Amino acid sequence: MHSSKKVLLVFLPSESGVDGARSLYSENEKNNNSIFSWFNRSFRTIIKQSQFAIPPLSLMILSSIELEGIEQSICDMRFEEFPFNKQWDLVGISVQTGMAKKAFALADTLRSKSISVVLGGPHVTLFAESCRSHADVLVLGEADDLWKEVLTDLTTGTIKPLYQSESFPDLAHSRPVMKTSLIKNRYFTTNLIQTGRGCQHSCDFCNVHVLNGHSLRRRAISDIVAEVARFKANDHRIFFFVDDSINADPAYALELFRQLTFLKIRWFGQATTTLGQQHELLETFARSGCQALLVGIESLEPNSRNAHKKNQNKAGELSLAIKTIRNSGISLYGSFIYGLDGDTLDTPATILDFISDTRLDVPGINILRPIPGTRVFERLREEGRLLFDPLDITAYRYTFGQEMLYSPKNIPLDAFIESYSALTRQIFTMKKSIARGIEAPSSKPAVLLFNLFYTHLYSLSRHDLQQQLKKKPMEKTILPYAE
Ligand code: SF4
Repeated sequence: MHSSKKVLLVFLPSESGVDGARSLYSENEKNNNSIFSWFNRSFRTIIKQSQFAIPPLSLMILSSIELEGIEQSICDMRFEEFPFNKQWDLVGISVQTGMAKKAFALADTLRSKSISVVLGGPHVTLFAESCRSHADVLVLGEADDLWKEVLTDLTTGTIKPLYQSESFPDLAHSRPVMKTSLIKNRYFTTNLIQTGRGCQHSCDFCNVHVLNGHSLRRRAISDIVAEVARFKANDHRIFFFVDDSINADPAYALELFRQLTFLKIRWFGQATTTLGQQHELLETFARSGCQALLVGIESLEPNSRNAHKKNQNKAGELSLAIKTIRNSGISLYGSFIYGLDGDTLDTPATILDFISDTRLDVPGINILRPIPGTRVFERLREEGRLLFDPLDITAYRYTFGQEMLYSPKNIPLDAFIESYSALTRQIFTMKKSIARGIEAPSSKPAVLLFNLFYTHLYSLSRHDLQQQLKKKPMEKTILPYAE
């Protein structure tokens, strides 16, 4: 009898935000015992223990594919070291831009030990050539069906160097997601549901429409309802609908959440502010257990919205939409980007007024991050506004507002950093964070926790941006993160 082939799917941590919460600068020196570093390390431990992490959905989906002769497991490196002490027939690594150097280093180590490596994920899909020398196999695009082919070829010894399909997977085909490879208590919740993929909009700073296409592909409602019921049976925690815009297809969402109402779940999700005008859907969301939504406000400046093709709703309609959604009993995380091409030094005052007028529960104040592969990255490159070498795409890493990657159009870099820092300092005082937690229409403890974490994370952001200024960002030096 043949033994099964052992396949490991690896997820790497991002080194900023709630996964990392580390300074790019102060913690790099070994034995750094400054109070700032000590405080940051302590806070990082608290954040980890608060179980803010959610499982990697893409790996949950791939590990759910069952095939005779294959045993799959997941290694989430936010919580564990790579298990070098076991034998692996194949290791798959999901690669995001910004973590690519780390993924390549792991892949190179594994291959030096004669372990075959598959690389896949957004970075590999967009920049396959730069990944080729680090992998035995590349998987390009959404891997739902391709992964089954890889596993089948592994069992027959006919694995190929490249797997790529001509079209996006049809999500209407039933593909039940299993959670058996996850250690439940590591995560905030394991109840992750995706109802579809793709986005009809074309915001130039976003890569969702680049990676998942412009048309909405939906799963069958009956599949989702069955999945929610199955997940709920072994984890009573909150559900997270991970779709970028859960209200993008209002008729579909209305029917789905009508049916889910009977399962009596509580859920978080992400929506567009258009929900404020979709009254029947908003009422159904509230009735079906929606506790909180993340909405992409991005900009209140009409010039910025036009410059970055954020056209799906108008700046003047945002305030009423936010108030309407909050009045239905749903808390809101509102995500802004400051530093867009129509922004000026007056923009922070507009954001502050908006937050106090709408009583937004968790404001997220982001800096534009030009992700390689997006239209904005290409435009900034052509305009000579990128601060790092555009050919070194892995330099465009994710941080929590800790690093400028480009020069704003209308504001000198140093003035921008001063005004961004002043803005986050005014929004995230301890007093205001606690007040927002108390006043939230629902999920008060989560809103409070997010605000307190952000109070800390934005202080890291201010610290690091000042350091970047001091070190002259134009030098194009890329500092490593502390280990
Ligand atoms: S930012 Fe949101 S609405 Fe815009 S393209 Fe990305 S997913 Fe679509």
